[in-house]
Amino acid sequence: MTEGALTPSQQRVREGLLAWTEPRPPVDPALAARLREQLSEATAEAAEALPDGAELFLSKSKLDALSCDGRFVDFLEGEFTWSAPIVKGQLAHHGIEIDFAGGRQRDPAEVIDVAWERLVTSGSSAATFLESLDGAEADALRGQARGLLTGFREQFPALPDKKVHPEDALRVRLHGGRLILSGRPDLRLGGPTSDVRRMLLLDLKTGGRHSLRHLADMRFYALLATLKHDVAPFRVATYYLDEADWDHEDVDEGVLEAAVRDIAAKAPRAVALEHDRPPEEEWRLLAAPHCRWCGRLPICPAAAEAGYVPA
Ligand code: SF4
Repeated sequence: MTEGALTPSQQRVREGLLAWTEPRPPVDPALAARLREQLSEATAEAAEALPDGAELFLSKSKLDALSCDGRFVDFLEGEFTWSAPIVKGQLAHHGIEIDFAGGRQRDPAEVIDVAWERLVTSGSSAATFLESLDGAEADALRGQARGLLTGFREQFPALPDKKVHPEDALRVRLHGGRLILSGRPDLRLGGPTSDVRRMLLLDLKTGGRHSLRHLADMRFYALLATLKHDVAPFRVATYYLDEADWDHEDVDEGVLEAAVRDIAAKAPRAVALEHDRPPEEEWRLLAAPHCRWCGRLPICPAAAEAGYVPA
Protein backbone atom coordinates (compact mmCIF):
# COMPACT_ATOMS: atom_id res chain seq x y z
CA MET A 1 0.00 0.00 0.00
CA THR A 2 1.90 3.08 -1.22
CA GLU A 3 1.01 6.32 0.51
CA GLY A 4 1.06 8.49 -2.60
CA ALA A 5 -1.75 6.60 -4.33
CA LEU A 6 -4.17 7.08 -1.44
CA THR A 7 -6.90 9.68 -0.90
CA PRO A 8 -6.47 11.86 2.23
CA SER A 9 -9.11 9.76 4.06
CA GLN A 10 -7.38 6.54 3.09
CA GLN A 11 -4.09 7.92 4.37
CA ARG A 12 -5.76 8.82 7.67
CA VAL A 13 -7.11 5.25 8.00
CA ARG A 14 -3.74 3.78 7.01
CA GLU A 15 -1.89 5.73 9.69
CA GLY A 16 -4.50 6.17 12.44
CA LEU A 17 -6.49 2.93 12.30
CA LEU A 18 -4.30 0.37 10.57
CA ALA A 19 -1.14 1.81 12.21
CA TRP A 20 0.60 0.63 9.06
CA THR A 21 4.11 1.75 9.94
CA GLU A 22 4.00 1.12 13.71
CA PRO A 23 5.75 -1.88 15.27
CA ARG A 24 3.47 -4.67 16.47
CA PRO A 25 3.51 -6.01 20.06
CA PRO A 26 5.16 -9.37 20.73
CA VAL A 27 3.16 -12.58 21.11
CA ASP A 28 2.74 -13.99 24.62
CA PRO A 29 2.48 -17.73 23.91
CA ALA A 30 0.98 -18.51 27.35
CA LEU A 31 -1.71 -15.82 27.30
CA ALA A 32 -4.53 -17.84 25.69
CA ALA A 33 -4.13 -20.70 28.18
CA ARG A 34 -4.19 -18.27 31.12
CA LEU A 35 -7.35 -16.60 29.84
CA ARG A 36 -9.08 -19.90 29.15
CA GLU A 37 -8.39 -21.00 32.71
CA GLN A 38 -9.65 -17.70 34.16
CA LEU A 39 -12.78 -17.82 32.05
CA SER A 40 -13.43 -21.43 32.92
CA GLU A 41 -13.07 -20.77 36.66
CA ALA A 42 -15.17 -17.61 36.54
CA THR A 43 -18.07 -19.32 34.75
CA ALA A 44 -18.01 -22.68 36.53
CA GLU A 45 -20.85 -21.79 38.90
CA ALA A 46 -23.09 -20.60 36.06
CA ALA A 47 -22.44 -23.80 34.12
CA GLU A 48 -23.25 -25.89 37.20
CA ALA A 49 -26.53 -24.02 37.65
CA LEU A 50 -27.74 -25.11 34.21
CA PRO A 51 -30.42 -27.79 34.20
CA ASP A 52 -29.30 -31.25 33.03
CA GLY A 53 -28.75 -31.33 29.28
CA ALA A 54 -29.06 -27.56 28.84
CA GLU A 55 -26.40 -25.29 27.43
CA LEU A 56 -25.83 -21.56 27.66
CA PHE A 57 -25.08 -19.83 24.38
CA LEU A 58 -23.73 -16.28 24.66
CA SER A 59 -23.24 -13.88 21.77
CA LYS A 60 -22.37 -10.18 21.82
CA SER A 61 -26.07 -9.32 21.38
CA LYS A 62 -27.09 -11.49 24.34
CA LEU A 63 -24.35 -10.05 26.55
CA ASP A 64 -25.42 -6.55 25.58
CA ALA A 65 -29.09 -7.33 26.33
CA LEU A 66 -28.09 -8.67 29.76
CA SER A 67 -27.53 -5.11 30.98
CA CYS A 68 -31.29 -5.14 31.80
CA ASP A 69 -33.39 -8.20 32.70
CA GLY A 70 -36.40 -6.91 30.75
CA ARG A 71 -34.36 -6.29 27.66
CA PHE A 72 -32.86 -9.78 27.87
CA VAL A 73 -36.30 -11.36 28.14
CA ASP A 74 -37.41 -9.24 25.18
CA PHE A 75 -34.33 -10.46 23.26
CA LEU A 76 -35.24 -14.08 24.02
CA GLU A 77 -38.93 -13.82 23.27
CA GLY A 78 -39.39 -10.86 20.95
CA GLU A 79 -39.44 -11.22 17.18
CA PHE A 80 -36.66 -9.66 15.13
CA THR A 81 -38.11 -7.16 12.68
CA TRP A 82 -36.32 -6.22 9.49
CA SER A 83 -36.44 -2.58 8.45
CA ALA A 84 -35.00 -0.53 5.60
CA PRO A 85 -32.06 0.83 7.68
CA ILE A 86 -31.12 -2.68 8.86
CA VAL A 87 -31.27 -4.07 5.33
CA LYS A 88 -29.22 -1.13 4.03
CA GLY A 89 -26.54 -1.91 6.63
CA GLN A 90 -26.53 -5.62 5.76
CA LEU A 91 -26.23 -4.90 2.04
CA ALA A 92 -23.34 -2.51 2.68
CA HIS A 93 -21.56 -5.05 4.93
CA HIS A 94 -21.94 -7.87 2.42
CA GLY A 95 -20.98 -5.51 -0.39
CA ILE A 96 -17.76 -4.44 1.35
CA GLU A 97 -16.80 -8.08 1.95
CA ILE A 98 -17.47 -9.00 -1.68
CA ASP A 99 -15.60 -5.91 -2.81
CA PHE A 100 -12.47 -6.82 -0.81
CA ALA A 101 -12.61 -10.36 -2.22
CA GLY A 102 -12.85 -9.02 -5.78
CA GLY A 103 -10.07 -6.47 -5.40
CA ARG A 104 -12.49 -3.57 -5.96
CA GLN A 105 -12.57 -4.34 -9.68
CA ARG A 106 -16.35 -4.54 -10.11
CA ASP A 107 -18.86 -1.76 -10.49
CA PRO A 108 -20.42 -0.99 -7.05
CA ALA A 109 -23.92 -1.57 -8.51
CA GLU A 110 -22.94 -5.08 -9.55
CA VAL A 111 -21.46 -5.77 -6.10
CA ILE A 112 -24.63 -4.63 -4.35
CA ASP A 113 -26.74 -6.79 -6.69
CA VAL A 114 -24.70 -9.80 -5.55
CA ALA A 115 -25.12 -8.74 -1.90
CA TRP A 116 -28.89 -8.40 -2.48
CA GLU A 117 -29.05 -11.89 -3.95
CA ARG A 118 -27.11 -13.23 -0.98
CA LEU A 119 -29.71 -11.77 1.40
CA VAL A 120 -32.62 -13.10 -0.69
CA THR A 121 -31.21 -16.61 -0.66
CA SER A 122 -29.96 -16.53 2.94
CA GLY A 123 -32.99 -18.38 4.22
CA SER A 124 -33.60 -15.66 6.80
CA SER A 125 -36.72 -13.54 7.16
CA ALA A 126 -34.82 -10.79 5.28
CA ALA A 127 -36.03 -12.44 2.08
CA THR A 128 -39.66 -11.88 3.08
CA PHE A 129 -38.93 -8.22 3.82
CA LEU A 130 -37.15 -7.73 0.50
CA GLU A 131 -39.97 -9.39 -1.43
CA SER A 132 -42.47 -7.04 0.25
CA LEU A 133 -40.77 -3.97 -1.24
CA ASP A 134 -42.06 -2.43 -4.45
CA GLY A 135 -39.64 -1.69 -7.28
CA ALA A 136 -38.92 1.92 -6.30
CA GLU A 137 -38.35 1.03 -2.63
CA ALA A 138 -35.95 -1.73 -3.63
CA ASP A 139 -34.10 0.62 -5.99
CA ALA A 140 -33.79 3.23 -3.23
CA LEU A 141 -32.27 0.68 -0.84
CA ARG A 142 -29.85 -0.57 -3.49
CA GLY A 143 -28.87 3.03 -4.22
CA GLN A 144 -28.20 3.81 -0.55
CA ALA A 145 -26.12 0.67 -0.11
CA ARG A 146 -24.21 1.48 -3.30
CA GLY A 147 -23.49 4.96 -1.89
CA LEU A 148 -22.10 3.44 1.31
CA LEU A 149 -19.90 1.03 -0.63
CA THR A 150 -18.59 3.80 -2.90
CA GLY A 151 -17.91 5.98 0.16
CA PHE A 152 -16.06 3.12 1.86
CA ARG A 153 -13.81 2.69 -1.19
CA GLU A 154 -12.95 6.37 -1.00
CA GLN A 155 -12.31 6.25 2.77
CA PHE A 156 -10.58 2.94 3.33
CA PRO A 157 -7.43 1.80 1.51
CA ALA A 158 -7.52 -1.32 -0.64
CA LEU A 159 -5.75 -4.24 1.04
CA PRO A 160 -4.21 -7.41 -0.34
CA ASP A 161 -6.89 -10.09 -0.56
CA LYS A 162 -4.99 -12.50 1.69
CA LYS A 163 -4.94 -9.97 4.55
CA VAL A 164 -8.74 -9.60 4.69
CA HIS A 165 -10.84 -12.28 6.38
CA PRO A 166 -14.55 -11.42 6.43
CA GLU A 167 -16.75 -12.77 9.21
CA ASP A 168 -14.16 -14.92 10.98
CA ALA A 169 -16.37 -17.37 12.91
CA LEU A 170 -15.22 -17.37 16.55
CA ARG A 171 -16.52 -20.02 18.94
CA VAL A 172 -15.33 -21.10 22.36
CA ARG A 173 -16.68 -24.19 24.17
CA LEU A 174 -16.24 -24.52 27.91
CA HIS A 175 -17.41 -26.95 30.59
CA GLY A 176 -17.82 -29.80 28.11
CA GLY A 177 -19.92 -27.66 25.76
CA ARG A 178 -22.34 -26.42 28.41
CA LEU A 179 -21.17 -22.85 27.83
CA ILE A 180 -20.69 -21.69 24.26
CA LEU A 181 -19.42 -18.22 23.36
CA SER A 182 -19.84 -17.21 19.76
CA GLY A 183 -19.10 -14.18 17.62
CA ARG A 184 -18.30 -13.06 14.11
CA PRO A 185 -16.55 -9.71 13.63
CA ASP A 186 -17.19 -8.13 10.23
CA LEU A 187 -13.53 -8.14 9.23
CA ARG A 188 -10.32 -9.65 10.52
CA LEU A 189 -7.30 -7.99 8.98
CA GLY A 190 -4.11 -10.04 9.16
CA GLY A 191 -3.60 -13.46 10.66
CA PRO A 192 -1.98 -15.14 13.67
CA THR A 193 1.80 -15.24 13.49
CA SER A 194 4.25 -16.59 16.07
CA ASP A 195 6.44 -13.54 16.64
CA VAL A 196 4.33 -10.37 16.77
CA ARG A 197 0.58 -9.69 16.97
CA ARG A 198 -0.70 -8.50 13.58
CA MET A 199 -4.47 -9.12 13.74
CA LEU A 200 -6.92 -6.24 13.78
CA LEU A 201 -10.62 -7.00 14.31
CA LEU A 202 -13.03 -4.53 12.79
CA ASP A 203 -16.79 -4.08 12.97
CA LEU A 204 -18.51 -1.82 10.44
CA LYS A 205 -21.46 0.33 11.53
CA THR A 206 -23.93 2.27 9.43
CA GLY A 207 -25.87 3.72 12.38
CA GLY A 208 -24.93 6.05 15.22
CA ARG A 209 -21.95 5.80 17.51
CA HIS A 210 -22.52 3.93 20.80
CA SER A 211 -18.96 3.87 21.99
CA LEU A 212 -19.28 1.95 25.28
CA ARG A 213 -21.54 -0.76 23.84
CA HIS A 214 -19.37 -1.19 20.77
CA LEU A 215 -16.21 -1.25 22.90
CA ALA A 216 -17.67 -4.13 24.95
CA ASP A 217 -18.58 -5.96 21.70
CA MET A 218 -15.05 -5.66 20.40
CA ARG A 219 -13.47 -6.78 23.70
CA PHE A 220 -15.67 -9.89 23.54
CA TYR A 221 -14.44 -10.58 19.99
CA ALA A 222 -10.84 -9.96 21.05
CA LEU A 223 -11.16 -12.59 23.78
CA LEU A 224 -12.77 -15.15 21.45
CA ALA A 225 -10.13 -14.51 18.75
CA THR A 226 -7.34 -14.96 21.31
CA LEU A 227 -8.79 -18.27 22.48
CA LYS A 228 -9.38 -19.47 18.91
CA HIS A 229 -6.09 -18.42 17.31
CA ASP A 230 -3.85 -18.61 20.45
CA VAL A 231 -2.66 -15.12 19.55
CA ALA A 232 -4.34 -11.90 20.66
CA PRO A 233 -5.21 -9.21 18.11
CA PHE A 234 -3.08 -6.09 18.47
CA ARG A 235 -6.13 -3.86 18.11
CA VAL A 236 -9.93 -3.89 17.82
CA ALA A 237 -11.97 -1.12 16.25
CA THR A 238 -15.47 -0.05 15.24
CA TYR A 239 -15.61 1.83 11.96
CA TYR A 240 -18.55 4.20 11.34
CA LEU A 241 -19.24 4.43 7.62
CA ASP A 242 -21.39 7.57 7.85
CA GLU A 243 -18.59 9.44 9.67
CA ALA A 244 -15.54 7.89 7.97
CA ASP A 245 -14.21 7.66 11.51
CA TRP A 246 -13.66 5.01 14.15
CA ASP A 247 -13.11 4.11 17.80
CA HIS A 248 -10.26 1.73 18.51
CA GLU A 249 -8.61 0.05 21.46
CA ASP A 250 -5.17 -1.54 21.61
CA VAL A 251 -5.49 -5.01 23.11
CA ASP A 252 -3.48 -6.08 26.13
CA GLU A 253 -4.06 -8.61 28.90
CA GLY A 254 -6.07 -6.09 30.94
CA VAL A 255 -8.53 -5.59 28.05
CA LEU A 256 -8.99 -9.34 27.67
CA GLU A 257 -9.46 -9.82 31.41
CA ALA A 258 -12.16 -7.14 31.35
CA ALA A 259 -13.98 -9.25 28.74
CA VAL A 260 -13.64 -12.31 31.02
CA ARG A 261 -15.12 -10.34 33.95
CA ASP A 262 -18.04 -9.12 31.84
CA ILE A 263 -18.95 -12.67 30.77
CA ALA A 264 -18.50 -13.98 34.32
CA ALA A 265 -20.77 -11.27 35.73
CA LYS A 266 -23.56 -11.86 33.21
CA ALA A 267 -23.55 -15.65 32.72
CA PRO A 268 -25.32 -16.48 36.03
CA ARG A 269 -28.10 -13.98 35.29
CA ALA A 270 -28.53 -15.43 31.81
CA VAL A 271 -28.93 -18.92 33.31
CA ALA A 272 -31.50 -17.63 35.82
CA LEU A 273 -33.52 -15.70 33.24
CA GLU A 274 -33.50 -18.56 30.76
CA HIS A 275 -34.17 -21.46 33.11
CA ASP A 276 -35.45 -20.27 36.49
CA ARG A 277 -36.92 -16.86 35.75
CA PRO A 278 -37.81 -14.76 38.79
CA PRO A 279 -41.19 -13.00 38.86
CA GLU A 280 -41.29 -9.71 36.95
CA GLU A 281 -41.38 -7.58 40.08
CA GLU A 282 -37.92 -8.94 40.97
CA TRP A 283 -36.33 -8.12 37.64
CA ARG A 284 -33.41 -5.71 37.66
CA LEU A 285 -34.34 -3.04 35.15
CA LEU A 286 -31.89 -0.50 33.84
CA ALA A 287 -33.44 2.38 31.93
CA ALA A 288 -30.92 3.83 29.51
CA PRO A 289 -30.70 4.82 25.84
CA HIS A 290 -30.92 1.10 24.96
CA CYS A 291 -34.65 1.30 25.91
CA ARG A 292 -35.24 2.66 22.40
CA TRP A 293 -34.56 -0.81 20.95
CA CYS A 294 -36.50 -2.73 23.61
CA GLY A 295 -39.87 -4.25 22.79
CA ARG A 296 -40.98 -3.78 26.41
CA LEU A 297 -40.65 -0.01 26.22
CA PRO A 298 -44.43 0.71 26.01
CA ILE A 299 -45.13 -1.30 29.21
CA CYS A 300 -41.96 -0.71 31.20
CA PRO A 301 -42.30 1.19 34.51
CA ALA A 302 -38.55 1.90 34.76
CA ALA A 303 -38.42 3.43 31.29
CA ALA A 304 -41.53 5.52 32.03
CA GLU A 305 -40.02 6.79 35.27
CA ALA A 306 -36.77 7.69 33.51
CA GLY A 307 -38.65 9.51 30.75
CA TYR A 308 -37.73 7.09 27.94
CA VAL A 309 -41.32 6.29 26.89
CA PRO A 310 -42.22 8.37 23.82
CA ALA A 311 -45.18 10.74 24.30
S1 SF4 B 1 -37.59 -0.49 28.34
FE1 SF4 B 1 -35.53 -0.17 29.13
S2 SF4 B 1 -35.65 -0.51 31.36
FE2 SF4 B 1 -37.48 -1.33 30.41
S3 SF4 B 1 -37.06 -3.50 30.08
FE3 SF4 B 1 -36.53 -2.43 28.18
S4 SF4 B 1 -34.37 -1.89 28.36
FE4 SF4 B 1 -35.08 -2.44 30.42
